[in-house]
Formats: sequence, C-alpha cells, structure tokens
Amino acid sequence: MRPGGEPTVKKVPRVAIVGFPNVGKSTLFNRLTGKRKALVHSLPGMTRDCIEEKVELEGRSFVLVDTGGLFGVPDEPLGDLVRERAWREVERADLVLFMLDSKREVTPAEEELLLSVRKTGVPRLLVVNKVDSPEQEAAAASFYRLGEKDTLFVSAEHKHNIELLEEAVARALGPGDSAGDKEQEPLRVAIVGRINVGKSSIINRLLDDERLLVSAIPGTTRDSTDSLVVRYGKRYCLVDTAGIRKMADTRDSREKAGILRAKQNIRRADVICLVLDAREFPTRQDAHIAQLAHDSGKPLMIALNKWDLVDKQALDPEAARRIIFGKLGFVDYAPLLLISARTGQRVARVLDLAGEIHENASRRVETSRLNAFLEAVSAAHPPRLEDGGRAKLRYMTQKGVRPPAFILFLGGRGRLLPAYERYFLGALREKFGFHGTPLRLFVRASPGRR
Ligand code: GDP
Repeated sequence: MRPGGEPTVKKVPRVAIVGFPNVGKSTLFNRLTGKRKALVHSLPGMTRDCIEEKVELEGRSFVLVDTGGLFGVPDEPLGDLVRERAWREVERADLVLFMLDSKREVTPAEEELLLSVRKTGVPRLLVVNKVDSPEQEAAAASFYRLGEKDTLFVSAEHKHNIELLEEAVARALGPGDSAGDKEQEPLRVAIVGRINVGKSSIINRLLDDERLLVSAIPGTTRDSTDSLVVRYGKRYCLVDTAGIRKMADTRDSREKAGILRAKQNIRRADVICLVLDAREFPTRQDAHIAQLAHDSGKPLMIALNKWDLVDKQALDPEAARRIIFGKLGFVDYAPLLLISARTGQRVARVLDLAGEIHENASRRVETSRLNAFLEAVSAAHPPRLEDGGRAKLRYMTQKGVRPPAFILFLGGRGRLLPAYERYFLGALREKFGFHGTPLRLFVRASPGRR
C-alpha cells in the first residue's frame, strides 16, 4: 500500500539492452533469457519495436528488454517517433546494459548515445561484447577510456563472462522481493460507458480471445464480476461492479444506474477505458462519464466501438477524432482506439494500451530535466500572465505520480494566461511522454531573487 492507502501495482524491474545495430544485442538477449531460437527481426520499413521477456536470476525476476533497431535509426520519416519510443524505454528502465562491439572502434555516434544515456541518470553497465578470450580482453582495455565505472568484457555468443554479467545485473538491481514479484498485483482496468455501447461484448471478447484465466478474485465485493485476464504474462483485472442493473426499469433510472456503475468502476480501477458507440457519439451521457474519469485523475483511453458499422467513406479516423475531442476537449490527452467487439478488431489493444498509459501516469522526471525543459519552453514561447504582463518560469519539480503533479515557481506576480498554461502542459506531455494521463500543475509565486 502507498501512503495514500490505495493498493499499488508492484513494479518488476526493467533492464534495457541499448546499442547500435550489430553489437550483439539479440544474442545477449537470447543468452540471458535462455532462448535458443533466433528472433525474427523486423523488416526494414516496418515498425520497429522492443522485444521483452521475463528473466529469473538468482531469485530475482526482472523484465529484459531488447531495444533492437530502435537506436541508430538513419534519418527517415519515422526516425523521430522511433527515437522517442527508444528513449522512453531507457527512461523507464532500472538498469541499462550499454553494448559495444570490441571488434571495432567506438563511433562518435555511439559516444553521443552513451552520453545521452548518462544524462538520464539511469544506472548502467557498459558491456563490451565479442570478447572471446583473455588476450582479447587485454586488447579491449581501450574501452576503459570511456570512463564508465562498471565495464564488463563478454562474449554473448561464446558465453564468456556471462556469469559475471549476471551477477553484476543482480547486484545492480539490489535484493528483490521475489515472492512479491510473483504475486504481482493485476492492473485494474474499468471498461465504462453508457448502456449498449458494447462494454460486455468487449469484456467477453477479451476473455475469449486471450483464452484467459478467468477466476474470482479474492477480496472483491459480492456484487462484482471482476475477471482476471493474462496477456503476454501481464495480469489485468477487468473491474465490473454489477448488481445495480436490477433496479433499472425506466430509461431515466437506467441512465442513473449507468452513471452510478461507471462511478463505482472508476473508483476501483487503475486505468479507465471509456467506450463510445460509433453510431452516435459523443452524447451528453458520454461527456458526463468522461468528466467523472477526468476528475478521478486516473489514466484514460477512449475506445470507439462498433467501428465495423461505420461507413469509412463517410467517417475516417481523423474525422472521428475531431468529433470526439471537439466535444470532449478536456480529455484530449486520452489515446483513441477504433475497435469492434463484433469482429474483434483491435480489442486486445485495450489491455496493452492500459499498461502503457498506467506507466506514463507513474513516470517521474528528475528536477534537472524539468528545468532544462523550462528553459527550452520559455525560449520558444515567452510566458504570459493573465494581465498581459511577462512572467519568468523559474523552477519546477515533480510532486507526485498518478496523476503526475508538478509545482511550477513563477517569477513575478499574477497568474499565467490560461492559454499559456494549456500550451505549457501540452509541451510537458509531449516532451516526457505523459500520454493518456491527466496532469496537475500547481503554480506558485517564487520568493524572488536572492
Ligand atoms: P453494454 O450495455 O455496454 O454492455 O453493451 P453490450 O455489450 O450488451 O452490447 C449492446 C449491443 O451492441 C449488443 O446487441 C451487441 O451485440 C452489440 N455490439 C457490441 N459491440 C459491437 C460491435 O463492435 N459491433 C456491432 N456491430 N455490434 C456490437
């Protein structure tokens, strides 16, 4: 339990392998995960993604992530997106294994990458690979000049020094509470929305599709029909407080019951998925539930269901987005999924996305990075006060997570122009990947110059 009293999802540490193509990342990944088979690499031009796998090591479990082709991307249309994804992986990691190839010189681009990894402050080990013998190890000593405190010379292919590396990883992660790791709390996802938008169909689809373990979860209330879902080894609990349906017989009381149910499910969830019906959206009641979700401060996604019924000539994804956020602008941070519970299209993405936005909502950014951000933002768009005057953004620090909350100290008296505050939050969200989560900003007058 956190001090706030709500149950938290226990965090399994993450170890990210970072390096340029061909240094041996996937060989090391396979070595540490005990996989024999070669991993399929993504084809050029296709989305590159990370591969991850749970690893048990000396009673300690962690998630090992191969950032694959995410780094060393040449300039190409998707380059920025890929890089951003890669940095998010590094920032959420508890340990980075920075890999180099002993058989060739370190390139300036690699040195630059190492420098950027250092700046994130994430602990790291320098792993110099393709060192097959002690003689070669002596030759590889030039890598010490990079000034890394922890450098290891290994051969992922020939298993040289792999045990040393495993020990170093275990040491870096610290003593684990492995019983806790195994009994990781499921992520609680509430599928909310008005009647007949397809909530039960989505839940049923998830249960069928994933051939999930479905079981009663101890500790839930008598009225709830929560189900446990396992996807890619991650556990999700679809929270649903039933039992209120019975009292609903008129349209008005059905609506009221619907809202009440949404309220209860939102309260019991870590992540919220608001379901809309593609035939009619967003309605007044949709807006009401969206407001409840927003006020809860919990991460939120929107699923536009029954997408199979939509004439794609008349309504394309961009238009759907405009219509939804035209009315529900206050939750414009929520990612939008176009799904069909009938055909199953993208329904399982609800779970993956739930995991992603929950992580975004749990992210902490170091004060030094926030202040570098302040400088950049002030330079790009000088801050404005409500009375038209100028202000100075002096200092910012993160106060909490879920939702991420910040204190911003302003030089000068007065309040920030609301439009400026919106711009500022948008830039903050973009910069640090706070997608899918509300943000809280507390603006204070700074005590002034010393
Ligand atoms: P709930 O009240 O939100 O739980 O809605 P239900 O899951 O009971 O669904 C209401 C109606 O919509 C049912 O007749 C479903 O068969 C139908 N439905 C749900 N999802 C879809 C979908 O993606 N496409 C289509 N065509 N119909 C759907």
